Amino acid sequence: MARSKSILTEARQIERAVTLIQLGARLQVLESETDLSYERLLRLYKEVAGRSPSKGQLPFSTDWFMTWQPNIHASLFLNTHEYLNKVAALDEIDTVIKAYQLYLEQLQTQDLEPLLSLTRAWRLVKFVDNGMLTMTRCSKCGGHFVTHPHEIARHYVCGLCNPPARAGKGKPAVPRALDVGLALAAAPAPAPALLGKSRAAAPTAPGVH
Ligand SMILES: [Zn+2]
Repeated sequence: MARSKSILTEARQIERAVTLIQLGARLQVLESETDLSYERLLRLYKEVAGRSPSKGQLPFSTDWFMTWQPNIHASLFLNTHEYLNKVAALDEIDTVIKAYQLYLEQLQTQDLEPLLSLTRAWRLVKFVDNGMLTMTRCSKCGGHFVTHPHEIARHYVCGLCNPPARAGKGKPAVPRALDVGLALAAAPAPAPALLGKSRAAAPTAPGVH
């Protein structure tokens, strides 16, 4: 494929890569989403993150997204992502970036730890694109949650409506606070305030678990 050698295009790619690094993306995400060489990305990564990128494989399994709290976090992100997909004309990776920034902001306002890393969020979108995961409407609350395909919607009850028994013990009912976020993200009416937010530097991004 012929690549444009435009300086502006390259500047844009570098800017995108820097944002991704700041959000905690793994090097594989940068390689996949920019045309910059591995060597340049590596240098950029060290410069921006102040350390070498972590090695190892990307998470390949969909299992993580099916566990209780991660599922709620993933659903919050994916609702925002789907919403942006509909209302904003952004490149695919920019939609992921924007949705992830909004996810972090949501959690920050709720004073919650983000469980979803950018790399996982990116994987999640790929899983949905590949048909390995989808969203199903909860038969009780009406929110849309990440599920495997072929989930029987009529019987599906989400992790907020039906938390595991252990959820009541120890920590406070953390995900309950995310109700607001899910309702907001699922709302059909546009929320321009969300879209108008600048690309402010994100708070510390979580690593890949
Ligand atoms: Zn529910």
